[in-house]
Amino acid sequence: MSLRLFIGGMRGSRPVTGAAFAEFGGDTTSLLLVGSHGERLVLDAGTGMHAVAEQLAETDPGEVTVLFSHYHLDHMAGLTMNPLFYRSGWSFRLLGPTFADGSVRDAVTRLLAPPYWPLPVERMSAQIEFAAFPAERKRGHSPFSVGPDRKDEKVECPLFRLRVRGCLVPHPGGCLAYRIDDDQHASVVFATDLEWQKRTAADETAFLALCREPKPADLLIIDAHFARAQAQAFAGWGHSSWEDDLDLARSAGVSRVLLGHHAPEADDKTLRALEQQVKNRSPGSMLARAGQWLTIGR
Ligand SMILES: [Zn+2]
Ligand SMILES: [Zn+2]
Repeated sequence: MSLRLFIGGMRGSRPVTGAAFAEFGGDTTSLLLVGSHGERLVLDAGTGMHAVAEQLAETDPGEVTVLFSHYHLDHMAGLTMNPLFYRSGWSFRLLGPTFADGSVRDAVTRLLAPPYWPLPVERMSAQIEFAAFPAERKRGHSPFSVGPDRKDEKVECPLFRLRVRGCLVPHPGGCLAYRIDDDQHASVVFATDLEWQKRTAADETAFLALCREPKPADLLIIDAHFARAQAQAFAGWGHSSWEDDLDLARSAGVSRVLLGHHAPEADDKTLRALEQQVKNRSPGSMLARAGQWLTIGR
């Protein structure tokens, strides 16, 4: 039982191009998680979504869940780059939190509509539905299921489900971190866009519980936009340092960390040097590279 993760992109804030960014990639955050029974879960829809769509297109048409952490444009712009929206046979369930500025339906239908985009959602060939992910700060974190039998929530069939929990993390406008468990055998926490230094005691308790329970996650994917030395100058920008990330992972008992939301100005040479520092402190950890597949769990 394992999860497979494809990295479409993990650049932070804005896409970048050019030979100097070829190794780690220039597209913004979009990942594809495939469950052991073929469940397909897209994590955020940054410009890396075009690469995620290419991977999906190699599989049979069917249901895909897209889970949004929040609606900043670097996590949304790839919605305009998904050719599968224009093909029948595909069904996309767009799932995300409701913040003061609106729901997932509000955010997506504003972006995918004139004057920003020519074809509104209701005229796309794929079936598209919206669902609100309940944002809860308490322990328990709003379980949600992804899988073929999800329509009958009363059926207990854990083999065919990914269990998704979320908790709020500090970021301007709000952001959810998610934990996805595949039948208790493999688990991943996706925590893009959080400013760990701005956490309250309640934030810390909730996020560490998300990472730890029911057992330490097999992989923590986390925002490493800054180094600690710079982070002070960018307080309030909503991002964390890789040093804080490794410290909190250690507190949570997580030994494998995938660092992302790479700063747009950080070229491959800079990120390779950073990765060496990261590995010196946490040998199981690495920086996200676009185009890479990883296996999580056994
Ligand atoms: Zn971002
Ligand atoms: Zn953001």
